[in-house]
Amino acid sequence: SNAVEIYELEKTYEGGTRALKGIELSIAEGDFFALLGPNGAGKSTTIGILCSLVNKTHGTVRVFGHDLDRDRAWVKSQIGVVPQEFNFNQFEPVEEVVINQGGFYGMTRKAAKKRAHELLKQLGLYDKREGMARALSGGMKRRLMIARALVHSPRMLILDEPTAGVDIELRRGMWDFLTQINKQGTTIILTTHYLEEAEALCRNIAIINEGRIVEHSSMRNLLAKL
Ligand code: ADP
Ligand code: ADP
Repeated sequence: SNAVEIYELEKTYEGGTRALKGIELSIAEGDFFALLGPNGAGKSTTIGILCSLVNKTHGTVRVFGHDLDRDRAWVKSQIGVVPQEFNFNQFEPVEEVVINQGGFYGMTRKAAKKRAHELLKQLGLYDKREGMARALSGGMKRRLMIARALVHSPRMLILDEPTAGVDIELRRGMWDFLTQINKQGTTIILTTHYLEEAEALCRNIAIINEGRIVEHSSMRNLLAKL
């Protein structure tokens, strides 16, 4: 089955903004997929619905063959999310941010700690694990968010503008890390308004504009057209 299938997805926020006007989208398991589009196009709303952070107004969403409305808890357990804003507890030690997230998914502290250490090593944060999260640089906080999202080994990782505010060298490091976990089988979806980022990472893309999908193709075909 596909990682994601979306039909007739609509979202109208309270106050009347029609953020999504009938999205149709499918994303294969194992894909590295970018949702591209200008600010305000509806990217965050779309992934917010996938992650159950935003309620849809209309439409059908399936994740790994499971209907989001019917199997919401199961769907959540399959997804790791890296939102744009730093929303972890800044006054906790770095490793606790990751370990506590494991607790939300029913992992034992021992298993979560082992996994946290593994991820912090891969992301270059292991030496910082006992310091306060607050003391990390912006790029390190971004990587901590990625470690936290992966603690329960989800089948799908969703990142909202993952390298916003990250300088070019750190960005390459993050790209390498994401490429590696995608090769290990994790489906990755990211939103970006940088075509270069999508080009560096992604096999398939959709472009969203004013709440509608205006292009859905392989990265290669898109580049050939430009
Ligand atoms: P993008 O991620 O592509 O920048 P968004 O999904 O954040 O786009 O926003 C799509 C539209 O929905 C925009 O017009 C935005 O102002 C509006 N919007 C987003 N979040 C909310 C919200 N919580 N309440 C009301 N309107 C919102
Ligand atoms: P619940 O069903 O109890 O609301 P969720 O399954 O939504 O819990 O989330 C489990 C935990 O994951 C939450 O308690 C929260 O700390 C964390 N979480 C939820 N959404 C996000 C997110 N967008 N980014 C990071 N962590 C999140």
